[in-house]
Amino acid sequence: MADNRNDVLRIVGGHPALDLVNTVAPRVPGGTADELDYLRAPAALLAWSRRIGLTDASEATAVAAAWDSAAGTAEQALHATIEIREAVYTVLARRDESAEMAAALELLTLRWSAAAARSVLVPGGAVAELQVGTSPALMIPDRLVAAAVELLRTVELRQLRACPIEEGGCGFLFLDRSRNGSRRWCSMEDCGTQAKIRKLSERRRATTVEGVQR
Ligand SMILES: [Zn+2]
Repeated sequence: MADNRNDVLRIVGGHPALDLVNTVAPRVPGGTADELDYLRAPAALLAWSRRIGLTDASEATAVAAAWDSAAGTAEQALHATIEIREAVYTVLARRDESAEMAAALELLTLRWSAAAARSVLVPGGAVAELQVGTSPALMIPDRLVAAAVELLRTVELRQLRACPIEEGGCGFLFLDRSRNGSRRWCSMEDCGTQAKIRKLSERRRATTVEGVQR
């Protein structure tokens, strides 16, 4: 059933590394007791990687075959993915000189250099292009850590937002690429609408209480 939950997860980050961070809901530093982890099994990870376009259909088939042929490889890929996810969230949430930040960057460096060792330059693009994830068993975490390093190196911080938890949002991270930088919610149809409904019903409740007291 874990796979099905993937379908209701909103893909709103605007970058694969942010979509990865957003596979825990709500997204709050330190976590919450009622949080949902959408990547609790290798099958869920594979389905999610297809959904965000990290793998295509034939690559996903190759990943599944690699996982089936060697015991423990699926769990290894999932474990690497979760480590990368939490490190990216720590780095983006802290952006400071703390030991947690340093440890998260170190983990990403190690994961990235291992992924680089499994990458290859092939003819293409302007002259050559980098193919990341040549080892199917680790294709997903390799591509995710490459995406994470790219994001951390190049992100425009004024575009980086979190859906406001304090106003009933979900804490998901996203890039606000709107021209006037006015995007507040991960998704207007979801958190934005819910916040509007909540505000309306709070106002109505306040009016009713006033009515009773009179
Ligand atoms: Zn939200």
